[in-house]
Amino acid sequence: MKKTFVTKEKLEEIAQQFPTPFHLYDERGIRQNVKELYEAFSWNKGYKEYFAVKATPNPFLIRILNEYGCGTDCSSMTELMLSEAIGIAGQDIMFSSNDTPEAEFAKAAQLGAIINLDDITHIEKVERAVGHLPKTMSCRYNPGGLFRISNDIMDNPGDSKYGMTDEQIEEAFCIMKEKGVEEFGIHAFLASNTVTNEYYPMLAKVLFELAVRLHKTTGANIRFINLSGGIGIPYRPDQEKNDIYAIGRGVRKVYEEVLVPAGMGDVALYTELGRYMLGPYGCLVTRAINEKHTHKEYIGVDACAVDLMRPAMYGAYHHITVMGKEKEPCDHTYDVTGSLCENNDKFAIDRKLPKIDMGDLLVIHDTGAHGYSMGYNYNGKLRSAEILLCEDGSARMIRRAETARDYFATFDFCDILDKMRFE
Ligand SMILES: *Cc1c(COP(=O)(O)O)cnc(C)c1O
Repeated sequence: MKKTFVTKEKLEEIAQQFPTPFHLYDERGIRQNVKELYEAFSWNKGYKEYFAVKATPNPFLIRILNEYGCGTDCSSMTELMLSEAIGIAGQDIMFSSNDTPEAEFAKAAQLGAIINLDDITHIEKVERAVGHLPKTMSCRYNPGGLFRISNDIMDNPGDSKYGMTDEQIEEAFCIMKEKGVEEFGIHAFLASNTVTNEYYPMLAKVLFELAVRLHKTTGANIRFINLSGGIGIPYRPDQEKNDIYAIGRGVRKVYEEVLVPAGMGDVALYTELGRYMLGPYGCLVTRAINEKHTHKEYIGVDACAVDLMRPAMYGAYHHITVMGKEKEPCDHTYDVTGSLCENNDKFAIDRKLPKIDMGDLLVIHDTGAHGYSMGYNYNGKLRSAEILLCEDGSARMIRRAETARDYFATFDFCDILDKMRFE
């Protein structure tokens, strides 16, 4: 059974202070998890996590991670700006973007970020944007084909837009070395949301062998290898959680088998985890406000897909707990819906749940990453607040809910705002 990190009593108390819906984050869980991650990779001297900002672009949460040494992985202008504003700069920023506009390379270079190139044509682009190549550069790799663990297909890199081929990455290293780049990194992201301890070790083997090859053929000084994101979380109650210590040991074994014998035992390992860092430590809190009995049983809640898009977009499973009814039998079958005029606006379809009464608080689990951040404004719906459940038990607003003024703010060049009656 999946547990909530907050009790019903506490949640009712928070909901008195901040109206539903809101995303709630668990400071205690976040801190415990990042500590364990650093422990699991403490055998590697240069190890560093660059938190994937796109997962949860909230400065309060990123600051917590930064206390433990996490930098940021940015992929856009605003993510770079957020990083800068938090005070994370220089090589504590990894700029891993694709289809990149020149201005973003310029901003990344101005902050001293490590630029991770998605494509060989971007070498010239960086030179144009920055005037020269920074001393440290990284390249994203795509081996093509299918990425398998044992017989299971994990993902399909051959069909993914990211990264360079073997030939391109070798050529890119040669070109950049010639142009004065002194330190190199390699990056790849080959499978997403993996719930297995084998993904990182498998990926590490691919990247470590590539690093040895590139070092031999190009003579490049490879300073770091970036295993990127992809460690998943158990969204479903029957899935087993990854064991980060087993993952750390698995990567270490490959490191000692491949890199150490090649004289590359000083290469630093980086990660760019998003989902694994915050996913389980956030939930969407919403109230049942309508019930409807037609061809199916519907429960309408006060949140909708603008607060959490994953179910609508990917049919993703998010566990739901009806607060205070954890021990009651799941003898009702509901579609739990939001209010968008889109039939895919359903947090759950044919879900077995206890009988839901109007006013019940529902916790939609595992929204701490790729939850709020994927939000949008369809149907003119306003995005929810973000609340931090602090270690001392207090609740702190870390982002206010959007208002109608925010929604209409981009009409500030004409008179429509003056005619609008804001509450
Ligand atoms: C999205 C992304 C991540 C984080 O992915 P998770 O699945 O949240 O771990 C890391 N690196 C890059 C380049 C990404 O695009």
